[in-house]
Amino acid sequence: MPTERWKISVSGIVQGVGFRPFVYRLALARSLIGFVANTPEGVAIEGQGQVAQLEDFLVALRNEAPPLAQVNEIVSSAIPLGHDGSFVLRHSTASGPVSTLISPDVAVCEECLAEFFSPADRRFRYPFINCTNCGPRYTIVERIPYDRPHTTMRGFAMCALCQREYDDPANRRFHAQPNCCPDCGPQLSLLEADGRQVAQRDEALREAVRRLAAGEIVAVKGIGGFHLAVDAANAQAVSRLRQKKGREAKPLAVMVAGLPEARKICCLEAMEEQALTSQERPIVLAAKKTGHGLAEEIAPGYDQFGIMLPYAPLHYLLLEGPVRAVVMTSGNRSEEPICIENNEAVRRLGGIADCFLVHDRGIHLPCDDSVVGLQDGLIRQIRRSRGFAPKPIGLAATGDMVLGVGAELKNTVCLLKENQAFCSQHIGDLKNLEAYRVFQQSIGQLGALFEISPQLIAHDLHPQYLSSRWAKEQAVITLAVQHHHAHLAACLAENHQEGPAIGIILDGTGYGPDRTIWGGEVLLGDASGYERFSALESLPLPGGDAAVQAPWRTAVSYLHGAYGADLPDLPFMVEHECGVILDMVQKRLNSPLTSSCGRLFDAVAAMSGGRQTIQYEAQAAIELMQLAGGGLGKEVFPCEVYAEDDIAELSSLPARTKLIPSGCMLKISVRSLIRAVAQAVRSGMARGEISRRFHGGLVAVFTRVAEAARHREKINTVALSGGVFQNRLLLEGMISSLGRAGFQVLIHKELPCNDGCISLGQAVIGREALKKR
Ligand SMILES: [Zn+2]
Ligand SMILES: [Zn+2]
Repeated sequence: MPTERWKISVSGIVQGVGFRPFVYRLALARSLIGFVANTPEGVAIEGQGQVAQLEDFLVALRNEAPPLAQVNEIVSSAIPLGHDGSFVLRHSTASGPVSTLISPDVAVCEECLAEFFSPADRRFRYPFINCTNCGPRYTIVERIPYDRPHTTMRGFAMCALCQREYDDPANRRFHAQPNCCPDCGPQLSLLEADGRQVAQRDEALREAVRRLAAGEIVAVKGIGGFHLAVDAANAQAVSRLRQKKGREAKPLAVMVAGLPEARKICCLEAMEEQALTSQERPIVLAAKKTGHGLAEEIAPGYDQFGIMLPYAPLHYLLLEGPVRAVVMTSGNRSEEPICIENNEAVRRLGGIADCFLVHDRGIHLPCDDSVVGLQDGLIRQIRRSRGFAPKPIGLAATGDMVLGVGAELKNTVCLLKENQAFCSQHIGDLKNLEAYRVFQQSIGQLGALFEISPQLIAHDLHPQYLSSRWAKEQAVITLAVQHHHAHLAACLAENHQEGPAIGIILDGTGYGPDRTIWGGEVLLGDASGYERFSALESLPLPGGDAAVQAPWRTAVSYLHGAYGADLPDLPFMVEHECGVILDMVQKRLNSPLTSSCGRLFDAVAAMSGGRQTIQYEAQAAIELMQLAGGGLGKEVFPCEVYAEDDIAELSSLPARTKLIPSGCMLKISVRSLIRAVAQAVRSGMARGEISRRFHGGLVAVFTRVAEAARHREKINTVALSGGVFQNRLLLEGMISSLGRAGFQVLIHKELPCNDGCISLGQAVIGREALKKR
């Protein structure tokens, strides 16, 4: 059997995840000599031994990699034989560019948990136990390379025992940067609302558990920031939390001790259980079970709970009993980013929390819990954050480095490098100054960790957004991107499709080049450009944002659009001063035009006796969807489609992608739909039936428009994007209807369909624009 020496390079997430010890063990088992070392590109191996063993080694490298590793590429070649005496681990070379990936934060692993619950173990009940397979990463790294002095563990010197583990290639904690124990690592303490320390270590924990059980609001420092926790079975405590946090009705997340407890409160499908127990540990939206035993105040009027399982060791201790389910909501006031520092938490949450369970391991970057839900047979993202960020999303092609700075709400930022897209954690509402600070920090952090200096910054078309203004202040070329075009490009990029495609983009608000508010759009195009093929009719939104908060205003305006000044008499109008709204609409006072699909849902909900004012985003639409009872019927409300006057002019344009017309080919008649709803309400039709027919009407009309687009353009691919597609009934109805019509349908898989995907779309469009320069 011949002996050879192979040089093998491995790229992907292969540092800080136990990859070198893994390589070491594989090599020993196959009697190889040589070495393994971290390099700027990943891991370099030189292995020498029998060819059959080397071949086997290569297969094992890919197939048996540690749980947190992600092997992207393995390249090997034969080189001259060497004279090593054994197989060794070489130390990192810190020089040169580093493109090795930083892993997301990972829930505590089974092996660590076993030690954690074992009284004989030196880390018994130690809340900061971790190893190379688990623990915090993204939220504690300050810069690269990923070594302890570059993390928030910098201040904790390892004791002799920990150091020995850290240095031992055969140990699970070999080079585990946050490695620590009760003797040398971070500790818990309990602070009163005014910041005074009252207990430490295990005593702090016991006191926090006691206070939770007594109904107090406990602020708990976790992995990506603070949570506000209360006993989920205590209605009074939950109400008090809502009132203090200024969060009237928006559903709150619940953490339960384990899967058996989760099954008691939710009807779980296999995929939902898988998501709950995955190493990312997101919040999973799942159907409430009758007799769940938790406070109704957690998610009033909502047929799902957002539930999650413990992911930090500390959470297991909190939920040992007597409280087995706690509300765990982000530690912030409404719309602000999550708190990460102890002093900051006491300052910002002092008026909300009764006490603070804190620790002295710093959090470098705030990271909210991720939220996912089962839709069309797959677990899909609603908020992609802790556990997922900054794991890259693979792209079909490589290209220039570009930054997309995202949307105004549900902001994320995204950096492209080669064939990978690095999307940040959820940042939130950029109108908020704290969020704007995290926005800037995240751009800096992602750029530094992955060594990306963008050649172009793509931002929203809206000139007044803070993100647009920030982009223009940088010494880099910028590109303004229309919001719904970004949705289309993001959906294509995620699905590795070049397009062109028919983009059915339904959401709340996006600034159009005609300075109206878009949001019910059928676009034709790809990353290089688009045409507005069709859209919902634009109608006035009386009071702008005020109408978003009060769907009844939109209903009055849309009825005016459908009937003129002579409104039909509908029951909902009795409660309101409709005359004022009519006056605004007729005089077009502070009433911007919108083609928003979200507003259409609002109007129909309010008209049919649903929610008149909302307490959180999409509340009226969610309640309308729930009324339908989970399925569409045969009957649908008719919705007309008509050609716009400038159709001839537009179709004579030479190339689709050369300019951005503000008009469109086909208008979808919101007015015909509103008339149908009004007639149904007057005839006394049940609200559930109205909801089914309305959803069905939208599915039917958008399918028809897609067919018209296919007929003209010979494009058979449809991309669905926009926050309205979080509506499961509409999404699944649309997919099956388009499928029956023979379309290939693309939907988001790794990013949310809402504005969390905008930064990727912007970046991809920016990259395409650079090609033409
Ligand atoms: Zn572990
Ligand atoms: Zn130690």
